[in-house]
Amino acid sequence: MEQEIHITLRFTLATGQVTLNEIVYRLKELRDPLMLKILEQVLRSYDDLISERLSHTEIYPSKARKGLGRHFRKGEEEERRYCRGRKVKKRGYRDKERKIATVLGCLSFPLRTVECCRCGVRYAPLLSALGIGAYTRKEVNFEHEVIEAVIDTNYRRLVDGRSIDISLGGIHNVVVGSDIDQAFQEPVFVKDLSGIEADGTGVKQAGGEKGELRAVIGITQAGRVEPLGCFTNTAWPEVERTIRERLREAEGHKIPFIYDGEPGLDDFLADIAETQRCTWHSPRGLYHALWEDGVKKKQSEPEMEKMKQLIGIELPEGDYELLKEEDKEAVKSRYESSKEKIRELIQTFYEKGYRKGGAYLESLSSHLFTHIELWLRTGVIAPKTTSLLERVFRELGRRLKKIAWGWSDQTVTNLSKMILIRQYARDKWERYWKEKLGIKGYFTIQIQSVEIV
Ligand SMILES: [Zn+2]
Repeated sequence: MEQEIHITLRFTLATGQVTLNEIVYRLKELRDPLMLKILEQVLRSYDDLISERLSHTEIYPSKARKGLGRHFRKGEEEERRYCRGRKVKKRGYRDKERKIATVLGCLSFPLRTVECCRCGVRYAPLLSALGIGAYTRKEVNFEHEVIEAVIDTNYRRLVDGRSIDISLGGIHNVVVGSDIDQAFQEPVFVKDLSGIEADGTGVKQAGGEKGELRAVIGITQAGRVEPLGCFTNTAWPEVERTIRERLREAEGHKIPFIYDGEPGLDDFLADIAETQRCTWHSPRGLYHALWEDGVKKKQSEPEMEKMKQLIGIELPEGDYELLKEEDKEAVKSRYESSKEKIRELIQTFYEKGYRKGGAYLESLSSHLFTHIELWLRTGVIAPKTTSLLERVFRELGRRLKKIAWGWSDQTVTNLSKMILIRQYARDKWERYWKEKLGIKGYFTIQIQSVEIV
């Protein structure tokens, strides 16, 4: 259908006094309400057209009724079968206006009802024509804006100054009801990653109870974060299972898994990853172990320093293929001597009676150089600390903390996923919303003319 909308506006202007600022200010105020009125008119005229076509089958061939009049057959509620009837009688309007929260404000419009000549059911044909469910109370643009606002922690601005009726509870429902959990499950190829990191952090939940948010990220070979999953109060083995399902093509090519010693993560993704203890956290872990052995800070500090030196092997920058053989050799010999010196250090600890310290370093020793071994084998520079993941948790924490409602596991999980995907996979995020909105070129509108009458 093609139609024109005529808009009549009236303005008064104080001659010799008005400024450009004031004009723009008032026009801006008009923007959303005006668009809302236009929306209402478009819907009303579409509603008229639909019931006209469905009720006059003698004029309109079935082609002109295509996509219209879909409804469930009259009968028991459980038996939701579609009726094939496409001829109706007009039955006026519903008693109550239909209200839908839109990004432009709250839309309220009268809804036509019709009666199917075949099964006798009464329904509102506009709803199915627009792809609106019987209980839909908001449209997806609106949902999108709510979620963006929540992520930016400025949802107050969204609510203020508009006729949008959304409470914090309503925002909560939008987040919980999102399908983010099912979306973004496309496979991730292990060969594109240079490492995987996992960790957890505490979050305050409903009733002030402390929960645990867990996140797993991949680091791409370019050093970018690839979000793999967020979980709330989920055991590590289940986290592992979920993540494993998304990873593809490991081909015996193991990448480092970096973590800071969280119990339960020692064999995480063992078939595709080799654990690499965080080179920043490991010396601190040694400090604690030695402290348990009764070693004072003054004495343990030089040992920590020694360990930092040994594991802090710098890899030469630049393309591995273009490196000189002697540069690779230098790394290799430094790696071998460091490994040997770590062994000696363990020995010394045991000799000095530092049993905890010795055991700590011993259990760690096979996971301290995974990134070096990977580089020597493949040239891939893997991350060796959990600093990227820590940054991710800071991002999450800053936002999650500000949202003041009682936390459910699902809300924390969904919101964390949204924050990460928007932050680190912006293109996927945009695509997700575009698909959800279903923009396919079925509606276009242009400004024909604007003139003073
Ligand atoms: Zn019917």
